[in-house]
Amino acid sequence: MAIRIIVVGGVAAGAKAAGRCKRFNPEAEVILIQDEREISYTACGQPYYIGGIITERRELIIQSPEELRSKGIDVHTGCRAESIDVEARKVSVCDLQEKTLSELTFDRLILATGAKPIVPPMPGTEFYGVVTLRSIAELDLFKSVLDKLKPRHAVILGSGYIGIEVAENLAGLGISVTILEKMDRIMPRMDPEMSQQIHQHLLDHGIELITGIGATEIVGLDGCVSAVRMDNGREINAQLVVVAVGISPNISLAVAAGLMIGSSGAIAVNERMQTSVDYIYAAGDCAESIHRLTGKPVWNPLGDIANLQGRVAGENAGGGHARFPGVLGTSIFKAVNLNVAITGLTEQAASSAGMTPLAVTLDARDKARYYPGAKSVTVKLLADKVTGKLLGAQIIGVGAVDKSIDIVATGLLGGLTCRDIEYADFAYAPPYSPVLSPIIVAAGILAKRVGKN
Ligand code: NAD
Repeated sequence: MAIRIIVVGGVAAGAKAAGRCKRFNPEAEVILIQDEREISYTACGQPYYIGGIITERRELIIQSPEELRSKGIDVHTGCRAESIDVEARKVSVCDLQEKTLSELTFDRLILATGAKPIVPPMPGTEFYGVVTLRSIAELDLFKSVLDKLKPRHAVILGSGYIGIEVAENLAGLGISVTILEKMDRIMPRMDPEMSQQIHQHLLDHGIELITGIGATEIVGLDGCVSAVRMDNGREINAQLVVVAVGISPNISLAVAAGLMIGSSGAIAVNERMQTSVDYIYAAGDCAESIHRLTGKPVWNPLGDIANLQGRVAGENAGGGHARFPGVLGTSIFKAVNLNVAITGLTEQAASSAGMTPLAVTLDARDKARYYPGAKSVTVKLLADKVTGKLLGAQIIGVGAVDKSIDIVATGLLGGLTCRDIEYADFAYAPPYSPVLSPIIVAAGILAKRVGKN
């Protein structure tokens, strides 16, 4: 008899897992349970839809339920998995419209329940005009607030990825934007001098930044947001408040089922994406990863990682033997026209992990200096002081950063040293790169310093 695999959650990891599972094991019965109406949509593209760069909402939907059904997957939208009976291998499912409960048995289960925006407990978050960004329903509310309230001033709580990407897009619509960051600097996941560059760039482009101060209350008038009160007592007027203070993994189903939760707060999994119960898998933003440099569990909720983990969970649930080897925390984002990328450890993170990082920071161009359109980039490259092994990089610039960050990420995967990179044979022609890539130059400087206390 064909095995039955149930996937709970149908966005990045879940849709990928279901598709992979069915392709790998066409005999398997694959059922996808998704509480939202949409499946398989991009959260990453949403700030650009807000800003009008992406004009069609449908572009954000990667696959419709019908498309996934045409691949032989039984898709149930508007249905929420309420509980798991681990021993009996049953999931209890609520049809949210009909308000009916049913039970589905499974041979294997994949949890891809994702994460949700954190909304800090403070008065006023219920006012119309206070938004988060993640699901299509949240996106639709955000868009309707823009259309109905036509805000002149927006306050964004949080200066992480979403805060900065949304700031750029709102500013592009002519809305004046203030970012309120409770830490003493923006983008605190980067080293201070690098986040300072982003800070200056945003200021130069008219985005106001307030750091080291939190919000205590959202003030409203006639049911709509009118201001944000800060912990210094001051108020900033706003007709739109975007809450982007981070996300938390959706683990309640896993917790209630008694699955092990890792030290990062997400569901603990092994490299086959199996949870503490070997026939239950977890993938995507609800699941933990191992950091490939420190070997420690981390929570790294990113879209590309969700897809990779979903692929592994789907294949293994279908009877395969795929492995997910861990993460480096590689990510990239745009801050107005500044490109920002990071991989591996920051200097601060490497030191905190007990390593001895050696850092070099240099300014370079992304093309030959004399080639029209060459733009600046700042590269911070880190290697271990004793072994010379690469530890990470942060690259910022109006020039291209994506190629360089992926070079470093690949070097980290291969355990390469700065000496290996110093003589690397990379592609060069003036329209694409300086004669020596900034990564080669930085690695060369590090190589001279390695081993010399
Ligand atoms: P984040 O963790 O990137 O940033 C949250 C920020 O809010 C931090 O700087 C934090 O110090 C600050 N903060 C926390 N509490 C606060 C408070 N009460 N007041 C003011 N500031 C506060 O989270 P995010 O921006 O919400 O993004 C969520 C997730 O989405 C990220 O974890 C990321 O995985 C993902 N994402 C990634 C990309 C990308 O890779 N390009 C883009 C968008 C989203």
